[in-house]
Amino acid sequence: MHSSTIRDAVLPEIGLSAGEIREAIAAMKNDDVPVFDAKKGSPVYFASEEQIAVVRDAYMGTFAENPLYTKYFPSLKRMEGEVMGMIVNMLNAPDGAGSLTSGGTESIFMGVKAARDRARLEHPEITEPEIVAPFTAHPAFSKAAHYLGLRITRTALLPDHSAPDLDAYRAAIGPNTVLLVGSAPEYPFGTIDPIPEMAALALERNINFHTDGCLGGFLLPFAEQAGFDIPPWDFRVPGVSSISLDVHKFGYAARGTSAIAWRNEDLYQYQPYEFNEWPSGGYATPSITGTKPPGAVAAAWAVMHFLGAKGYRDTVDRSIRYTRKLIEGIRAIPELQVIGDPRAAIFSYMSDSLDIFAVATAMERRGWGMARGATPPAIHVMQFNNQEGASPEPYLVDLRAAVDDVKAGRITRESAAAGYNT
Ligand SMILES: *Cc1c(COP(=O)(O)O)cnc(C)c1O
Repeated sequence: MHSSTIRDAVLPEIGLSAGEIREAIAAMKNDDVPVFDAKKGSPVYFASEEQIAVVRDAYMGTFAENPLYTKYFPSLKRMEGEVMGMIVNMLNAPDGAGSLTSGGTESIFMGVKAARDRARLEHPEITEPEIVAPFTAHPAFSKAAHYLGLRITRTALLPDHSAPDLDAYRAAIGPNTVLLVGSAPEYPFGTIDPIPEMAALALERNINFHTDGCLGGFLLPFAEQAGFDIPPWDFRVPGVSSISLDVHKFGYAARGTSAIAWRNEDLYQYQPYEFNEWPSGGYATPSITGTKPPGAVAAAWAVMHFLGAKGYRDTVDRSIRYTRKLIEGIRAIPELQVIGDPRAAIFSYMSDSLDIFAVATAMERRGWGMARGATPPAIHVMQFNNQEGASPEPYLVDLRAAVDDVKAGRITRESAAAGYNT
């Protein structure tokens, strides 16, 4: 938060009216990208207007309750249990366990914490625990390592960025390693890591393997059902201990909802926290948050029941078909290279002959919202939402013109500001 904003904002002595508040918020939102503007690349996950309405109703219908007090609100406990049940079955772990969390970051924190605590018990000789993850793993793994007192080694990719270099990954594993990580898919290039090869290394050492499915958890199961060729990544792969998946991304629930799923109760047992040494007696939570938003739990239950497997399958099918056409069109432009072998609705492309950030600027001039990656310099594309009948052709027409502009020297980069959210 900017310090001048903090300094200038003081609690008003007399409150505003409901109408004034509505107007003030509307005025502040003038600078925001419209929530449903696909051309601006608005980072909002939605399947349809009707789905948004279902989520909003469920959220608002429960927002005043409090899921921390399960005795008072058994409905929320039941809904959370049923959401987790649907998720572990989706991930092919019929004996699975887990909990909802406030987001992918918290899910990853719980995966790291439980791996550390399992190792404390089973490998007491390890006093300085370490994580090994490919360079493409989400920052949340480094953040969790930083908060929870572990070291993390991020290992090299193959020179063409298409996958982790498995030799480097294997070489980074040492006597202190307590957790191995892979992503399905990773965020930067949308590539599914070779999970079976990676998880086997964890199994050999009797330590945890975490698949980060924050992005892919609600895409890949339905992509597979829709007949796309999806390499193995879930609990069918021996050695996968935990999977994080964001219900608030392609699960289309409200922001503030993710899940951490475990293969079984034995692995889950290291996640919850219980406490009894204060005046008020027993206190127990499955994850970091104490009080959490009840609306998020109800919205997750609502949207999963509203869309059903068929609803997710149809949306994912549409998104992947669209993305593949986009990829095909970009591959046909000789100056541009799509990185790796993206299988879901996320990918990046670079250029070996042009300034890719100048191409991004030329696209922005044509009204497109563009996301830039840093290593290698690239344009990042994510199909946040894909409405019925959307065509990739307008993007490709503009991209071909943008490439021509850069080639002819008619435009140069205005920005090279690459970043996930900066
Ligand atoms: C979004 C994301 C995360 C983190 O999720 P938050 O909900 O933003 O905390 C982790 N991993 C991947 C691959 C992601 O895309």
